[in-house]
Amino acid sequence: MGDTSVTHAGALTALTALLATAPSPGLPEGLHYPGQLVMFATAAGLAVESDSSVPTIEELVRAARIRVRERYGEPPEEEEQEEDLQEAAAQPFAEPCPEPVFEDVAAVTRLRDRLARALWAPEAAECRDELAAIAIDFRLIPGLTDQDMLAVRSASGDFASLLAAKLVGASLQLVAAGLRGRLRRCGDYECMSPFVDRSASGHGLYCTPTCASRVRARRRRNRQFEEGQPIG
Ligand SMILES: [Zn+2]
Repeated sequence: MGDTSVTHAGALTALTALLATAPSPGLPEGLHYPGQLVMFATAAGLAVESDSSVPTIEELVRAARIRVRERYGEPPEEEEQEEDLQEAAAQPFAEPCPEPVFEDVAAVTRLRDRLARALWAPEAAECRDELAAIAIDFRLIPGLTDQDMLAVRSASGDFASLLAAKLVGASLQLVAAGLRGRLRRCGDYECMSPFVDRSASGHGLYCTPTCASRVRARRRRNRQFEEGQPIG
């Protein structure tokens, strides 16, 4: 597999971050606050209209760090997180969107669950149908930017629709690039974060080098234990 890049890297970051809030075995529902929605919108290239609610990069990094620490009891790979977030924040042409309120949390939760169903559908046809259905429900309109990049917009002005436009756009690009199978969950059972495997081989199992080395260390300890060596 060659080029694994998609043009809307920020929207893809927002998509995986949103999918990461879904309940999974051992992890409860993780989407609760409008503030979280602001993070996804900002990463996806939307400018939330309320100066005080737009988090700075430092706030985003801190929030991501706190979340990972709460979940897994350790900080994430700092440099990587910051690079991702800076890339997202550097997205040009931020489109304005209203500040999310509590009702939007439920709407975005439903959007998240539908996107997960589409992107992880066993059958490709199911994925296509669900993405098309989401596009209709959120009144999405496909178009092109002045650089002829795919740009999906919504005819509705509410927060969930504007976010849906970005996330469905990123999802369509992912699928159209033949990369749907690369959206997976981290193979480390302590993490299980959704990620897009950008490795050259296409066989990447872990979301970050941190998770890969954690798994290696665990295997090493298990081997030492089985061989009766002192654990170190
Ligand atoms: Zn991971």
